[in-house]
Amino acid sequence: PRLANQIAAGEVVERPASVVKELLENSLDAGSTQLDIEVEQGGVRQIKIRDNGYGIAKGDLALALCRHATSKILTLDDLESVRTLGFRGEALASISSVSRLLLTSKFNKSDEAWRVEAEGKDMATAVKPASHLPGTTIEVRDLFFNTPARRKFLRTEKTEFSHLEEVVKRLALSRYDVGFRLSHNGKQIYDLRAVANQMSAEHRLASLLGKKFIENALTLDVEAAGLRLWGWIGLPTFSRSQADLQYFFVNGRVVKDKLVAHAVRQAYRDVLYNGRHPTFVLYLELDPATVDVNVHPTKHEVRFRDGRLVHDFLFSKIHRVLADVRP
Ligand code: ADP
Ligand code: MG
Repeated sequence: PRLANQIAAGEVVERPASVVKELLENSLDAGSTQLDIEVEQGGVRQIKIRDNGYGIAKGDLALALCRHATSKILTLDDLESVRTLGFRGEALASISSVSRLLLTSKFNKSDEAWRVEAEGKDMATAVKPASHLPGTTIEVRDLFFNTPARRKFLRTEKTEFSHLEEVVKRLALSRYDVGFRLSHNGKQIYDLRAVANQMSAEHRLASLLGKKFIENALTLDVEAAGLRLWGWIGLPTFSRSQADLQYFFVNGRVVKDKLVAHAVRQAYRDVLYNGRHPTFVLYLELDPATVDVNVHPTKHEVRFRDGRLVHDFLFSKIHRVLADVRP
C-alpha cells in the first residue's frame, strides 16, 4: 500500500504549496479557529502547521496516515453532499510517503496527546505519548527526500514560498472567522486575527493585498434572484504591479472561471478605462444545487447551471458600483 501511496502522491503533492493546501483544509475541516504555519526554506526543509481543531483520537492517529482512511465519508449519500474540503482520504498518506512526517494531536475528548511518525515508506507503528494543547500539529520535513526525480522539479526557495503564500492567502480570504499566522525562516509574514464580520476585514485585506488595494476599493453587497455578490472592487488608480490581484470565490471556494472573468472585464471596460486590469476580491453565493465546483485538488473550475443568469448578474451589479463613481 505504501507504493500505491507514492504513485498517488504525484497527483496531490506537487510542491510545498500543495502540502500546505491539503493540511490547512484538514485543519479547517476539523473546525479550527486558529492556524499557525511555520515554513523553512520555501517549505522544502519543513512545513509545520498547528491547529486548534477537534484533534485525532489515539486509535485513529496511525490510521490517518493510511490511504483511503477518511473519516469524512460514511455513506454513498455523503459522497454526493460533501461539505468538507477533503474527502478522498489520501492526502496524508501521499504526503507522508514522500517526506518525514510527524503527527501530534490531542483529541478534544481526551486528556492526553499522542504522536506518530512516518519516514517515507516506513511508518512507525508505535503511537507515543506527547505533549500538546487541544488540536493537531503536523510537521512535514525534507519533502521528496526519497523521490529525487520529483525533487528536481522544485523551483527556487523564493518561488516555492510564493506559491505556498498564495495558498494561504486564498484560504485566509475565504475564512475571515479563522486566524492565520504565517512565518518563513523564522520571520513573521502575517498575523491575521479572526474577525466576526466579513466586511470589517480591512485589516486582513491590507495585510494580504496591500494598503493600496483597500484604500482604492469600492465595497459592494447585493442580492437578486437568489444570488448574492459581495466584496471589494479596486479602482484602476494604482500600479500595474497588482494586475494579478483577482480573487473570485463561489460559495467560499476560490475559482478561476472564464465566464466570471469576462463579466468583470466587460463591466470595467464599459464604465472605466479600457485596457486596465481589474482588481477584485469578490464572493458569489448561490444555491449549491445550481453550481458544480470541481473538487479536484489542483483545478479551480466551476460550472453554473444557468451561466447566462450568473454572467448578467455579475456584469450588472459590478457595472452599477463602478458607474456610481465614474469620474
Ligand atoms: P481526507 O481529508 O480526504 O479525509 P486526509 O488524508 O487529508 O484525508 O486526512 C485523513 C484523515 O485524518 C481525515 O479524514 C481526518 O479524520 C484526519 N485528520 C487529518 N488532519 C486532521 C486535523 N488537522 N485535525 C483532525 N483530524 C485530521
Ligand atoms: Mg484532507
